[in-house]
Amino acid sequence: MIYKEYSVSPKKSIALVAHDNKKGELVHWSLRHKDKLDGHNLFATGTTGSLLEKELSMPITKFISGPLGGDQQIGALISECKLDLLVFFWDPFEPMPHDPDVKALLRIAAVWNIPVACNQSSADYIFSSDLLGQSHNRQIPDYESYLQERTL
Ligand code: PGA
Repeated sequence: MIYKEYSVSPKKSIALVAHDNKKGELVHWSLRHKDKLDGHNLFATGTTGSLLEKELSMPITKFISGPLGGDQQIGALISECKLDLLVFFWDPFEPMPHDPDVKALLRIAAVWNIPVACNQSSADYIFSSDLLGQSHNRQIPDYESYLQERTL
């Protein structure tokens, strides 16, 4: 795979997702980091988004609920380079009907090299980074080269 540099803006597009047993944790974490979330573009799956919008009193672009396709909508944003960071508190103790979607979302985040936080500790680390408010470069797959390789 050939990679190229992609310039990430200081104003990030951040997706927030939590499984039901983790929604309380995400609300708590988001309230702690409200000042840092402010000023970025926030996205969320349906139920998580409604809850956070109420608790944070901040505008959030809401997708369909996760089990109905919201995780895949977020994955599509990532592959279009329209999302810079994923905070996804998934539940390690509960099997989900949409487990394949969860796996697909985490895979596509790895493909496009975006930072992912799956728990409060990793989200704290990411949110203590200076890069959160700065422009920086990220390596992404060079899709044009990939297509050329495939058509040879
Ligand atoms: P929800 O979806 O925010 O609509 O609950 C989250 C998920 O289960 O992926």
